[in-house]
Amino acid sequence: MGRIHVLDEGYVELVEGWGSDESIIEAARMSTGKGFNGWGTEEKPGDEKLLAFLYNNKHATPFEMGGVVIEVKAPIFVFREWHRHRTQSYNEMSARYIPLLDENYVPSLERVMVGANTATSNKQAQGNGKPLTAEDAAQWVYELQALYDQAQIVYQLGINLGVPKELARLPVPVARYSRMRACANLRNWLAFLTLRQAPAAQWEIREYANAVGEIIADRFPRTWELFTKEKQVVSSK
Ligand SMILES: Cc1cc2nc3c(=O)[nH]c(=O)nc-3n(C[C@H](O)[C@H](O)[C@H](O)COP(=O)(O)OP(=O)(O)OC[C@H]3O[C@@H](n4cnc5c(N)ncnc54)[C@H](O)[C@@H]3O)c2cc1C
Repeated sequence: MGRIHVLDEGYVELVEGWGSDESIIEAARMSTGKGFNGWGTEEKPGDEKLLAFLYNNKHATPFEMGGVVIEVKAPIFVFREWHRHRTQSYNEMSARYIPLLDENYVPSLERVMVGANTATSNKQAQGNGKPLTAEDAAQWVYELQALYDQAQIVYQLGINLGVPKELARLPVPVARYSRMRACANLRNWLAFLTLRQAPAAQWEIREYANAVGEIIADRFPRTWELFTKEKQVVSSK
């Protein structure tokens, strides 16, 4: 599976994966040693019955037998949210060692307008209650870009003068793109997606979560089906 582009400069990419829907079944059958017996049909179901039983009854440990490592390029503010998921493993590029590229997330006008002007019960996603005009939104994005440019001038000046990179980076905004690898098992990824694909999550990390979802769906299609079915049931309640 190739690189999935996210936001204006970011991406999510599969580095490697392990396990499968079949290995979840094999792990669950440790007591009997019967292994994976094969998927069935709608008329004559096979091991999809056991997979659904495990999933729906929260017998979660077999879902720890598979997982993926991904590479992510995202703004630092997205990583701030992402790294709260303590049970994933991370390695992030270090701006102490290499200079950061001059790449900052610039939200589209549509994103700014929709975020500000859409009625939502999510307080964190609301504006100040007054309509935001297209002109004001454009002015704000213009000022934002000017600030990014100024921040880069100060950053680059520091690098050129010989200020240590770990200090030269101080003006870099949280919109600056960084890169990391994140590793987790399938159970863990589904917990991440439950929280970060939800409407309450910030739109930017939701875009990343949707890309991770594509990777998970590709590698674990039957578990993915159970996960999405469960989400539909929860959202219709
Ligand atoms: C919409 C949204 C809004 C948020 N707003 C805020 C906010 O305003 N401020 C803020 O600080 N955070 C906020 N968060 C972050 C949130 O509080 C969690 O830190 C984050 O979602 C990670 O979830 P987690 O702890 O379940 O994940 P993980 O850290 O990956 O943990 C997975 C599971 O392991 C167990 N676990 C891990 N560590 C511990 C521990 N130390 N003790 C007990 N059990 C543990 C828990 O069962 C946990 O669910 C927000 C998250 C979302 C999705």
